[in-house]
Amino acid sequence: KSKAVATPTRTKEILKTYGFSFKKSLGQNFLIDVNILKNIIEEAGIDQTVGAIEIGPGIGALTEQLAQHADRVVAFEIDQRLLPILEETLEGHNNVNVINQDILKADVERVIKEHFEQGQQVRVVANLPYYITTPILMKLLMDRLPIDSITVMIQKEVADRMAASPNTKSYGSLSIAVQYYTEAEVVLNVPKTVFMPQPNVDSSVLHLEMRTAPPVQLEDEEFFFDVVKATFGQRRKTLMNNLARHFKGEMDKQEIRDRLEKVGIDPSRRGESLAMEEFASLANVLYK
Ligand code: SAM
Repeated sequence: KSKAVATPTRTKEILKTYGFSFKKSLGQNFLIDVNILKNIIEEAGIDQTVGAIEIGPGIGALTEQLAQHADRVVAFEIDQRLLPILEETLEGHNNVNVINQDILKADVERVIKEHFEQGQQVRVVANLPYYITTPILMKLLMDRLPIDSITVMIQKEVADRMAASPNTKSYGSLSIAVQYYTEAEVVLNVPKTVFMPQPNVDSSVLHLEMRTAPPVQLEDEEFFFDVVKATFGQRRKTLMNNLARHFKGEMDKQEIRDRLEKVGIDPSRRGESLAMEEFASLANVLYK
């Protein structure tokens, strides 16, 4: 039996055999450490009952591990040069389907219906192409797909922002957006040396467990996210300053002050000090 795809020697061999050259524009940094992959599989909660979705299988480093541990795997890969390679590296695994498609354009809901059993747990696991980390994750969250969790290798800085708590440097509208849909946790920090080629940024594994019910009750979701963005507009400024600017022409300062008082939020605070529940009361009281 040949070595795992993710060993440095096997990876080099495969790349050489196919004359494969990395495309930086597609965020191609392949994993060459089997231990990291096993950790990811474990953190993702993959077992023989689970349906796994992978984004960007590359030459199959993670796909191979998923195929061994999950019931079934569907992988979206945009680069068609990788298809013949994947055919070879995943040969012998009859529970994997590779779809040659841009994940941002894919109808993921339909794919889930077609490939997985009704009621089966579905978990997304990926070493994401970093140039589109946020668009991919926001698509998966906002489309309200029937998935249970997302476990992804991404830039450390973005992982920190997504999982951040109030009163930290990383906390911002992205933290609220992600944590509205999921419980977010950075589960692993990963050195650059486990990738080929090595990326310029540090990486982390982020685990997102989908919420089954929203964490707060909102009058209007879109309005809530608008208010959150507005309060982080200029980080150094107070809630009052950012809100007055945002609602200019619609609500004057006195009106804003009165409404904030109703929910006990001090207008001289900064956005970065507000927890999700406070943002919810703020948005609900400002909503007309
Ligand atoms: N999973 C492999 C690994 O860990 O070694 C490769 C990870 S590499 C960071 C990202 C992969 O995503 C590449 O194979 C790249 O071609 C693919 N990719 C880039 N943009 C994509 C897109 N829009 N849709 C699907 N796959 C994409």
